Amino acid sequence: MKKVVIIGTGYVGLVSGTCFAELGNDVTCVDIDEQKVVQMQNGKVPIYEPGLEELFARNIAGRRLHFTTQLADAMEEAEVIFLALPTPSGDDGSADLSYVLGVADELGPLLKRYAVVVDKSTVPVGTAEQVSVRIAKNAAVAFDVVSNPEFLREGVAIRDFMEPDRIVIGTSSKKARKVMGELYSPITNEGHPIFFMNERSAELTKYAANSFLAAKITFINQVANLCERVGADVESVRLGVGSDERIGNRFLHPGIGYGGSCFPKDVLALIHTAHEHGYDFDLLKTVIDRNRSQQRVLVDKILKYYGNDVSGKTFALWGLAFKPDTDDIRESPALAMIQALTEAGAAIRAYDPEAMENVRARLGGNAKVVLVKDEFAALQHADALLIATEWNQFSAVSLAGVKERLKKPVIFDGRNIFSLKAMQAAGFYYESIGRPIVEPQVVV
Ligand code: NAD
Repeated sequence: MKKVVIIGTGYVGLVSGTCFAELGNDVTCVDIDEQKVVQMQNGKVPIYEPGLEELFARNIAGRRLHFTTQLADAMEEAEVIFLALPTPSGDDGSADLSYVLGVADELGPLLKRYAVVVDKSTVPVGTAEQVSVRIAKNAAVAFDVVSNPEFLREGVAIRDFMEPDRIVIGTSSKKARKVMGELYSPITNEGHPIFFMNERSAELTKYAANSFLAAKITFINQVANLCERVGADVESVRLGVGSDERIGNRFLHPGIGYGGSCFPKDVLALIHTAHEHGYDFDLLKTVIDRNRSQQRVLVDKILKYYGNDVSGKTFALWGLAFKPDTDDIRESPALAMIQALTEAGAAIRAYDPEAMENVRARLGGNAKVVLVKDEFAALQHADALLIATEWNQFSAVSLAGVKERLKKPVIFDGRNIFSLKAMQAAGFYYESIGRPIVEPQVVV
């Protein structure tokens, strides 16, 4: 059992903190957001993440999970201190390290005994050294700074944390290596690999992994666009390609582009790091560029269908989160779609199972967007249905119910959630990504 402090209790910090408590450690989560901390102290999980609520409640009841806004209180007897702070894109595309380095400045005087400070935030190459220098300025005791990037995915974060494909630890200190090895031993004892490397390699590993996945998604999106032009079906092509073990099926789903809090900023930051070291990572520049145009693909299909005039049209929009099973709307393609269509004069009736509050806070002022209580309410008075996020509940919906409520049976699907056969059988006009258009059969 170790005394663990988690600084920053967002998606990564709260999941990591709760899971470390579940593994038997005594965990204190620190956040500057008072409202969030009060909420957690009252037993409420401030984010939506499947399975988190149960684990959270169990560990609070077991007195292994605590919350505070006071860093100094949390630091008493701290052995391992995780920085799970935001690292958003700065104006030039570099990762903004002000949160991480700001906390590093505070940590020095609060260290009372040897401790391991862990960068869990996604941070550029060289950050562990910078954090170390900033802590050392005010520290009276020995410490180590370790890079331990997080690979969890929102929506399956608990499983990703407890059963990871790998754990990456960047450290050149034997002492820190031992501490981190012990901390993760309940997971590694179950056969999940842990890779020790130097700090810089660990930092780069995270960026390289996210950039590769962003490129993989972008690749299949471009294949999908080509499929439309040559009369192929990307769902078949994807299976044929992805079943090659060297390629793999995951992250090979065509759609309206990647979003979220990680891929967009991490790809940018890696380009920036490369540039700083005199290297032009031009492949990734193209990935960003193509992803941006992919976010427009469905809007362009819609405009074409309506002869470039959607003024006065109302669209039902299903899905606002950047992917299913999360309430996270950061860089969500759905938001780009809302902006483009409302600017073109359309009205939107939008629904998402979990992201409504976040969207309300973001779009409060847009009178052309109505947030409705469920997927069926979105369809009322709508000229067509648009799908931006592939929540399971959408694909399981009654198609007859959809058809009955829409003014016309027209669907534009940015996530390919329905089969062409089902659309044909139900009598919809259906456009998706990388597949032939389904036209309702005319009975003569
Ligand atoms: P987040 O924005 O959800 O959470 C960050 C938290 O830090 C917020 O609660 C904020 O109030 C708090 N905070 C800010 N300044 C603070 C301070 N001075 N002291 C204490 N708390 C403070 O961020 P996130 O999505 O959890 O991401 C955190 C890091 O992890 C980022 O670097 C991100 O790139 C990386 N990451 C995220 C994911 C993901 O899926 N979200 C996955 C892997 C890695």
